[in-house]
Amino acid sequence: MKYTPVRNYIEGAFATATLPEIDVFDPAAGTVISRVPMSGVRELSLAVDAARRAWPAWAALPIKERVQVFFRYRALLEKHIDELSALVTEENGKIESEARAEVLKAIELCEFACSLPQIATGEVLEVSRGVECRVERFPLGIVAGIVPFNFPSMVPHWSMPNAIALGNCFILKPSELVPLSAGRIAELLTEAGLPKGVFQTVHGGRDVVEAICDHPEIRAVSFVGSTKTAQAVYRRATNNLKRCLALGGAKNHLIVMPDADREMAATNIIASMSGCAGQRCMAASVMVAVSTSDHVIARMCEIARAMVPGKDLGPVISAESKARIVRYINEAESQGAKVLVDGRNVTVPGREGGFYLGPTIIDHVKPEMKIAQDEVFGPVLAIVRATDVDEAIAVENASPYGNAASVYTESGGVARKVMERANAGMVGVNVGVPVPREPFSFGGWNESRFGVGDITGRGSIEFWTQSKKMTTKWNREAGTNWMS
Ligand code: NAD
Repeated sequence: MKYTPVRNYIEGAFATATLPEIDVFDPAAGTVISRVPMSGVRELSLAVDAARRAWPAWAALPIKERVQVFFRYRALLEKHIDELSALVTEENGKIESEARAEVLKAIELCEFACSLPQIATGEVLEVSRGVECRVERFPLGIVAGIVPFNFPSMVPHWSMPNAIALGNCFILKPSELVPLSAGRIAELLTEAGLPKGVFQTVHGGRDVVEAICDHPEIRAVSFVGSTKTAQAVYRRATNNLKRCLALGGAKNHLIVMPDADREMAATNIIASMSGCAGQRCMAASVMVAVSTSDHVIARMCEIARAMVPGKDLGPVISAESKARIVRYINEAESQGAKVLVDGRNVTVPGREGGFYLGPTIIDHVKPEMKIAQDEVFGPVLAIVRATDVDEAIAVENASPYGNAASVYTESGGVARKVMERANAGMVGVNVGVPVPREPFSFGGWNESRFGVGDITGRGSIEFWTQSKKMTTKWNREAGTNWMS
């Protein structure tokens, strides 16, 4: 094995306890590269106990002092970017440029945390003669974040830097499929000067997630993953009277109008559906081709056929995932859909054991087919035909998800119509991956998000803090009124 077995990071050090373990794979080779411990209630309790010891001193620091850690940590991420991206590539399979982009995004997220003293200020107003109301934000205490496999570095940084900079102690539960990056994150935070117990990792699967939802001292839980798990986590955490924000899966629709710029639309759509092997919650999954959009489709097929798996496209995460995606394609084909570009039978020389699929484009998919409804989470684009923009919007609106939607057009009127009527929390015009970047907040609608607020940017401040409303009067000469 290339890496020593992964360990929980508790109170500033890697734990030594022996726990049951499962294998960690390199999806590009299909080989075992490490092992990950499956923690439970006991390991989680150790982390909570350490966080309880760390929290009072951390919370007592002014926010300007707390964010100094993230200025230093940001510099360390930059210094180690080659090593950190290589780790992401190894555990997740992403190609080098995608892994690097992910770490760069983690850096951007730290920059936002560094700017929190400028943004998370309180409010003050003289509400009555001599009577002042002020609102200040206070941390919650011990909080946790549960993350998925598809962004081992970026998604933990959606929640961790803000939660910690705002004065909380944060326990991370990484995905057991990609547990390696979390260890380096912990080490670099310690090197940046974060006191022990403020950031900890507890590895495992369902048992430890349930322990997080149940632990009475954990005040808030953020979750990112599939809708099914998001629902379970949201129900369990809120049932235990915790704050919870649970981001789920997605089924993103791109509407392509006949007036769309051919080259821009085609390049963009292929990048959106195939980037990170289609394993992005913002990936294009259904293209709704309005009227005569065939010129765009023809160009998309050219670009997709020219892509080289292993070079331009990484593998999907596991053999099971690959088999599931192939089943979706087979089923759609057997129901009459037409496979224009077929990525089912690819092998990458020298990496025959890798879980590769090529970009796959399927035309004449009916909205009622499973491939048009379920989250496929692979480099697969289903094309549904529509006669006009209203029909296209109706197809998009029928999805129970609501993460992202985009329209490709040169018409401002059509673009505005789609932006207003799309049933999604993040919409784009001529943009394949309409991710709102900091300081804007990330978050979808419907079955793509359970809970109130967003996970990043300004939206996260409310989630990771509680406000205290203080009403004061000092000058006796202000007279009396009904308040005092
Ligand atoms: P997943 O739901 O299988 O796992 C997510 C986390 O939950 C992991 O840490 C895992 O260990 C844990 N988990 C899995 N099953 C569990 C169970 N039964 N009970 C308790 N915990 C459980 O998701 P994944 O396959 O790792 O990630 C891919 C999914 O994440 C996709 O659906 C994707 O759309 C979604 N995602 C969403 C966003 C978003 O912003 N909405 C972002 C990234 C990924």
